[in-house]
Amino acid sequence: MATQRPSFPVRLKPTASAALQGRTSSVPMRPAVLSSTPSMASDAVRDRMVQKLAAQGISDVRVLRAMGAVERHRFVDSALVNQAYEDTSLPIGLGQTISKPNVVARMIELLLGAPALNGKPNDRLGRVMEIGTGCGYQAAVLSHVASEVYSIERLRGLHEKARANLRPFRLATVHLLLGDGMIGYAKGAPYAGIIAAAGGESVPEEWISQLAVGGRIVAPTHAASGGQALVVIDKTAVGVQRRVLEAVHFVPLKSGIA
Ligand code: SAH
Repeated sequence: MATQRPSFPVRLKPTASAALQGRTSSVPMRPAVLSSTPSMASDAVRDRMVQKLAAQGISDVRVLRAMGAVERHRFVDSALVNQAYEDTSLPIGLGQTISKPNVVARMIELLLGAPALNGKPNDRLGRVMEIGTGCGYQAAVLSHVASEVYSIERLRGLHEKARANLRPFRLATVHLLLGDGMIGYAKGAPYAGIIAAAGGESVPEEWISQLAVGGRIVAPTHAASGGQALVVIDKTAVGVQRRVLEAVHFVPLKSGIA
């Protein structure tokens, strides 16, 4: 049986009504096995997180819904449950971190914003590849906006942790892979979107070749300033377009499996 994830603290007071109407009815992943936890309290705190994301400029309702649907507190260690909905990155073990909600939402919003090939934006992304599964949180969020998620992790310990974290949600469309994400996963290609949670010197050529025409890569990479910046790469019918956006701070992209 799956290990029981930490329950949400009961002392948190339910607050404002849902930020998004119909949010709870659009949540297909609240598992029966976890129904004994006081999810009403976490719903209220998560709604507040979603309202804050909207106030910070996240406007894509698909992203806000997905962020409202995934119970972030089930992906962090019990000692950190109280901080699960704060806009902060948190340690997930083996020196790695789960990204801040704002960064997750921003990157997924960018991923969904690729220019449509036929002028009509898709409601839902097709197949997506994620580099750096970590605790599995972002993969769960992605499963709400994409038809299929291939998520690669190079650290066995975290790959297994993500598997355990995601098991109770029974997300049939999320495929967890242990491997070196720097070479991507050719078997799942072409991808409508590729998103990286770890930053390297540059975006590997393999990612670009595994991206579908009309697809988009969102990844942190080394910036001229010496830090990291978010890079958006669009593969269009006439070539590859690259934009460098704001500064970010991600764990390093490393090669090989450990
Ligand atoms: N999306 C994750 C964030 C994980 S942090 C979450 O929601 O928790 C980034 C992860 O990228 C780390 O777990 C790190 O081990 C992993 N990583 C770094 N280089 C990698 C590579 N080449 N292939 C796959 N995973 C990698």
